[in-house]
Parts: sequence; C-alpha cells; structure tokens
Amino acid sequence: MDLSILRYLYESQVEIIEHSAIKEGCSIDTVLGACRNAIGSSGYTGLDDNQKEHFDKVVLHLIEDVRCPGLVGLDGNHNNCLHTFTDDELYTYYESETLCNRCEEQIDYEKQLAQKQT
Ligand SMILES: [Zn+2]
Repeated sequence: MDLSILRYLYESQVEIIEHSAIKEGCSIDTVLGACRNAIGSSGYTGLDDNQKEHFDKVVLHLIEDVRCPGLVGLDGNHNNCLHTFTDDELYTYYESETLCNRCEEQIDYEKQLAQKQT
C-alpha cells in the first residue's frame, strides 16, 4: 500500500475520497479521520477496527490496484482498458488525469487522424 498517494489525495484532492465515501454510504468524517491516522504516525496498523473497515471499503480501491478507466468512445462509454496503474502512473493520473501509456498513445493517434482530416 502506497501511503504517499493517499497523502497526496488527502491533501490535494480530498473530494475524490469524499465522493467515494458518499458512494459507499460511509461517514465522510470517519473516513477522513481514518486517512489522517493512516498517513500519520500510527499508520494503517494503528487504525481501530471501525476505521479499518471504512478505510478498506472507501479508500483502498483508490490507492491500490487501480485500473486505467480507458478512453471515452464516441458513444460516451469508457472502453475497458485492462491496465492496472503502477504507483507512479496512479500519481500522474490523479494529478493530471493522464491515462496509461497505451490509452494516451491512442489519444495522440486519434488527434493526428483528426488533424489530417481538417
Ligand atoms: Zn488505459
């Protein structure tokens, strides 16, 4: 588990954590409290059972084994990209919504095609 990504989310993009909490029907305060403790001195192992439960449900899938969401096609749906982000990629994804290399290459390719047509 890479807690530096959690720290980044907590400090810079806390709304991503909040949205996930709402989606899972969890208390935002409890979840943010658990995040604070996890990135603090006690670490994940220092969380109590209730906090761990919230953390595992709301936060873990945001920082571990995160899949590239894929490109949005003309029909508005995401294609399913099977790539799992590495920690570095995940960081760039959250920072600038950069997809995996393959999807980014596809975007470049489509941009080139579009330019040729004009
Ligand atoms: Zn991708």
